[in-house]
Amino acid sequence: MTTAARVRRISPSPSVAAAQRVRELKSQGLTIHDLTVGEPDFDTPAHVKAAAIRAIEAGETKYTSVNGTPALRAAIIEKLRRRHGLEYTDGTITVGGGAKQVIFLALTATLDEGDEVVIPAPYWVSYPDMVRANDGTPVVVDCPESDGFKLTPERLRPALTDRTRWVVLNTPGNPTGSAYTTAELRALAAVLLEHPHVRVLTDEIYDEIWYDDGASPSLAAVEPRLADRVFLTNGVSKTYAMTGWRLGYGAGPADLVTAVNTLQSQISSCPSSISQAAAAAALGGPQDFVRESVEVYRARRDTTVKLIREIPQLTCTTPSGGFYLLVNCRAAVGRLTPTGHRIQDDEDFARHLLDSEQVAVIHGSAYGAPGYFRISFATSTEVLTEACARIAAACAALS
Ligand code: PLP
Repeated sequence: MTTAARVRRISPSPSVAAAQRVRELKSQGLTIHDLTVGEPDFDTPAHVKAAAIRAIEAGETKYTSVNGTPALRAAIIEKLRRRHGLEYTDGTITVGGGAKQVIFLALTATLDEGDEVVIPAPYWVSYPDMVRANDGTPVVVDCPESDGFKLTPERLRPALTDRTRWVVLNTPGNPTGSAYTTAELRALAAVLLEHPHVRVLTDEIYDEIWYDDGASPSLAAVEPRLADRVFLTNGVSKTYAMTGWRLGYGAGPADLVTAVNTLQSQISSCPSSISQAAAAAALGGPQDFVRESVEVYRARRDTTVKLIREIPQLTCTTPSGGFYLLVNCRAAVGRLTPTGHRIQDDEDFARHLLDSEQVAVIHGSAYGAPGYFRISFATSTEVLTEACARIAAACAALS
């Protein structure tokens, strides 16, 4: 069968491929110290599960409106008000099967062939392929560690053209954990205000997994003059350990939201009614789980940062949010392994960690960050400590 060009332009997510490789090695009987996982290791909170069970028992098992149940939309609106002081109305909210689907549909709704989307690198692996799958052209802008892995006005300005439809801002970011400060968002907004044809897709899926003071700043709140050009996306996967429930949302201009809803009506009709009930309970219910899990992540982050920094060839920046650490392994590239192999690049280095010490990480090139690798600290302190000791041993073995 011949597949469509849009499929031939994209590849399976490298994180899914890494997870597959880990499963294969485990099935061969090997113990793998797995730092690739992109989801919380906690269970979904009990009151959220209970809400889903109640929904099933109450017969809330039918199609809902394409833009979700009134209860879910109200919970989303309230969450955005509580967290960022943003005021959205019913017609400016859309829901989907994960933030991933909502982002994809926003691109489907707006891109024609050759339209450009500015993607700061390091980036979440899915953005470039989502753009390609929708006939667009990703315009990747390198954002070095010396800039905190963040887009600056100086790098943004030359990337904008007449064909630019979107700038993607993922804050706090995967794989870096970097987040834009209010001042940084203001500076980017000043450039964007000069380009009224450009919209901004903010991916704020890690906004509540946040280690600094206050709340992670959100562009639509920082620069209200841009609010009608910002499509804010988020979901319940990461904050409430609900990756399998597949529920995400978007908030933004009514014309865009209507277009996304029209697509959604022909794709899935609506997300699962049961997941919607669970998500409404997660967003609208007690938030103790969020506070408690963030403290656990914080302790793991601090442990991992300390252990990585003790390894001579490696360095890392402390993340402000999320549960990932992007580690600089450039000093290890070019060295010899005990088997006489010269490490060519970050992918080779990740392979060395897996082969010699059974530690699984994802190489930075997958995120547009050559010379780095990503650690997920959404795993136990025991696994993190053992894995870091093994990474240290793998580095010490290089000559
Ligand atoms: N955005 C980023 C930056 C992510 O890291 C992920 C998941 O890995 C998603 C979006 C997708 O989230 P969801 O489970 O809501 O589709």
